[in-house]
Amino acid sequence: MEKITMTRRKMLRMSGVAAAAIPTAHVLLGSNALADELPHLSPDDAMAAALGYVHDTTTVDKAANPRHENSQVCSNCALVQGGDDEEWRPCAIFPGKLVSANGWCKSWAPKAS
Ligand code: SF4
Repeated sequence: MEKITMTRRKMLRMSGVAAAAIPTAHVLLGSNALADELPHLSPDDAMAAALGYVHDTTTVDKAANPRHENSQVCSNCALVQGGDDEEWRPCAIFPGKLVSANGWCKSWAPKAS
């Protein structure tokens, strides 16, 4: 039986190649390709519900959120990620899920101008 041995140097070299391949794949697939694979955040998700997340900012409970304004949407929030033209985008608050560009939650904060 052949004995398989790998030096520490080889292992580090291989892990470096793998790490370098991830951003390359992201570029080849395009930023939308990876984001499109993520599920949409449900307003019923426990954390989403706690933060009052909705897909449509015009449906926010005004009585419960008196400082909310309809101009506050995920697409102009400091915590949203992804491209400006994407309808569903990643958010720093909800990793692994996509939020609606027209959505809103209590963590909304204006993007720096
Ligand atoms: Fe939308 Fe901002 Fe709340 Fe994320 S933190 S869900 S981008 S309002």
